[in-house]
Amino acid sequence: MNFVDEKSRQAFVRAQMVIPGGVNSPVRAFKSVGRDPVFIDRGQGAHIWDIDGNQYLDYVGSWGPLIVGHAHPDVVEAIKRVAERGTSYGAPTEVETVLAEEVLKAYPSMEMIRMVNSGTEATMSALRLARGVTGRSKIVKFEGCYHGHADQLLIKAGSGALTFGVPTSPGVPTQTAATTISAQFNDLEGLAEIFKREGEEIACVILEPVAGNMGVVLPEEEFLKGIRRLTEQYGALLIFDEVMTGFRVSYGGAQAHFGIDPDLTCLGKVIGGGLPVGAYGGKRRFMEQISPSGPIYQAGTLSGNPLAMNAGLATLKLLQRPGTYQELQARTTKLAEGLKQIAQEAGLPIWVNAVGAMFSAFFTNTPVKDYASACTSDVEQFAKFFRGMLERGIYLAPSQFEAVFLSTAHTDADIDHTLEQARIVLKTL
Ligand code: PLP
Repeated sequence: MNFVDEKSRQAFVRAQMVIPGGVNSPVRAFKSVGRDPVFIDRGQGAHIWDIDGNQYLDYVGSWGPLIVGHAHPDVVEAIKRVAERGTSYGAPTEVETVLAEEVLKAYPSMEMIRMVNSGTEATMSALRLARGVTGRSKIVKFEGCYHGHADQLLIKAGSGALTFGVPTSPGVPTQTAATTISAQFNDLEGLAEIFKREGEEIACVILEPVAGNMGVVLPEEEFLKGIRRLTEQYGALLIFDEVMTGFRVSYGGAQAHFGIDPDLTCLGKVIGGGLPVGAYGGKRRFMEQISPSGPIYQAGTLSGNPLAMNAGLATLKLLQRPGTYQELQARTTKLAEGLKQIAQEAGLPIWVNAVGAMFSAFFTNTPVKDYASACTSDVEQFAKFFRGMLERGIYLAPSQFEAVFLSTAHTDADIDHTLEQARIVLKTL
């Protein structure tokens, strides 16, 4: 093992002069793990290489999109083929319909879909649609769920028993925060109370059906069903944000896994095959209200661009191969359970939540079922674990509160190797 990061250090100094914090998305700066980031040069399959030449097994996969690994030949070929014919026309192309049809086949809750350019755009547009069709202004989100960086979603719970949201960022108007109600994940009774009090004003409930942005947190059995019942009862829309879980928890996402029929679904990540994409879709009676077929406005210069559509389509075709999700699930379980066992042998607290091709290992003995319990994790211990693994060629997400993502490129030997390294690192904690 010969870990050198001189070039990355220099690149970071240079980047910080011209880009805030040196990065174009905050978590990339490695702030919560107490070291500077490594700068990536290239990726192939399950591996990435940094500019100093260090090789890593990558469990971030660009934060989820790369479920078939880096630079898969089919995806690269699709992008090349399209690029030679022009990258965007701002006019309809057939491939947009083809990808739409593929997604709708896998998500029967969606009867129509609109492509956008990011997960943030997808959730933002879905909220506008929910407000537009209900004529109501309040929305409910769950603490610890992340839905991108639209003002109305950068909200956390206020103090005390009140559920008024407060902004998590300067620049978010308090008036905006006042229309976002913050609820607790897996607390159905709390949500029922909210609806009892303000149900007539609530346009929608938005959630990650499996939370991935406080680390992976699974919904309890009755939770999702209960939300579906309550939203129906009060005439509010149920929005599943499956930007992360779509095509990852299963091909049909969390909604297929748990058998829930949401009104609207947001997608992103996997459906763009590593290029910028988001999408929102749902029941025809709602989607037809979107411009130009209806009055609710939403648009995008590069929406549905042929590069992203073809990369996404190539990715979905690969995922349709028989056995894909069984293998992803088996390797995820092997890694998650393996880590749990090794941590227990080392006498460390550990709690693991896993589903489909994603999991989190929390450094806590408390069962993690919501944001508060996720926060019982020892983040210092995670930071040490992260740094140890990085220097041993294992690239994990640089935060305790993120998911580990597997791809079809990860082999059993990769999992074994990862567990060997984890055994060494965990012993030093
Ligand atoms: N929704 C969820 C569940 C996400 O995980 C993310 C990003 O990680 C988003 C929305 C925002 O997507 P984007 O970063 O593409 O704007």
